[in-house]
Amino acid sequence: MHEIFAARESAVRSYCRSFPVVFERASGHHLWDTSGRRYVDLLCGAGALNYGHNHPEMVRRVVDYLTAGGPVQSLDLHTRAKAEFLEKFAQLLDAKGMSDYVVQFPGPAGTLAVEAALKLARKVTGRTHVVAFRGGFHGASLGSLAATTSPLLRGGAGTPLPHVTILPYDSTPELESAVLSGPVPAAFILETVQGEGGLNAATRPWLGRVRRLADRLGAHVIVDDVQAGCGRTGRFFSFEEFPELRPDLVCLSKSLSGMGLPMAALLIRRELDRWAPGEHNGTFRGHNLAFVAGSAALDLWADPDFAGRVADLAGVIRQTLTEIVAQLPGHGLTLVGRGAMSGLRFPDADLAGAVRDGLFRAGVIAETSGNGSVLKLFPPLTLTPAQWCEIADLIRDVIADAADTARGSAVVSAVG
Ligand SMILES: *Cc1c(COP(=O)(O)O)cnc(C)c1O
Repeated sequence: MHEIFAARESAVRSYCRSFPVVFERASGHHLWDTSGRRYVDLLCGAGALNYGHNHPEMVRRVVDYLTAGGPVQSLDLHTRAKAEFLEKFAQLLDAKGMSDYVVQFPGPAGTLAVEAALKLARKVTGRTHVVAFRGGFHGASLGSLAATTSPLLRGGAGTPLPHVTILPYDSTPELESAVLSGPVPAAFILETVQGEGGLNAATRPWLGRVRRLADRLGAHVIVDDVQAGCGRTGRFFSFEEFPELRPDLVCLSKSLSGMGLPMAALLIRRELDRWAPGEHNGTFRGHNLAFVAGSAALDLWADPDFAGRVADLAGVIRQTLTEIVAQLPGHGLTLVGRGAMSGLRFPDADLAGAVRDGLFRAGVIAETSGNGSVLKLFPPLTLTPAQWCEIADLIRDVIADAADTARGSAVVSAVG
């Protein structure tokens, strides 16, 4: 069954190369391949499955909606499904002291929320330049790509990617001087934890400095919360613990629909909402099935017990990974990330890759990021601490094995 992919799908495919099986069933934190083998999924759609696969309540509501004949595609017409989602989202924003944001539904992808944010910041300020940060990933369409630093991705552009100044992430010394010596920017765009860039977590003083610099220049702060948002860091928004950041624009996608249906949103501080009607459009601006499932996800957050369990799980993940680092001294491991957006940095990409492959043999799917040297461990936020601890034990054993094998071959090659 594999052959069709190699024969007929573009060479651009990527994740599937690390996990060359064919999946056909999914539930919670499990995936099954066509031979019936079960895997624990810690890739979680790179953060698009924060509630696990096929959350029963989300599936039930989507199926009911279809059975009742609800409209699926409706451009940006008013629908009951959209009204319900917006009402629940407004309640979440109110509860977080964020009542002064309006919601734009761009097309259904993270990169489209970023495109809308960059476009609006440029339009509102009349400036073309944007400041982005090394290691940042904002999407693969040209505007977002210009703010993305991966050489592999940029190399695919085939055209210059202008009007973006890229500065070191979470590094304070040259921030002001570098920005002040360049063109005045329309915006700063950043992730509070860099998902694809290797789970680098920004520190409070740096975030505060970015905000103050933006204020001084009349520029806007865009937080790309596509991966870090929707609970991944332990709270709904990744910037909740940094009130000093006060983003002007917030990009959301990945887990916004709750069950992996394509959806994106841009939160816009109300006074920046200077779009003319129809000035930015798209066919799939808010998909009703995604609204229905997304409403079920927001219902979860309305329950303080759920938010508490997510925060607890995030704490347990940090603790177990800290223990793994301590239990495997001499392996050069570093704990990276924040909350349930954590992972382990290895001394090199080869070892991280060997651990990923070893995990896959052991029935666990987890990918690397940050030039391949960081193992990303993204369990669904619905996992219990006990379930996570069992998985963490397995991860520790696989790392110990892979490191021993790597050492063994180093010894052999030194001898040979
Ligand atoms: C995934 C991601 C994007 C792009 O989202 P797509 O849906 O793949 O276009 C943008 N920013 C961040 C931080 C992401 O993780």
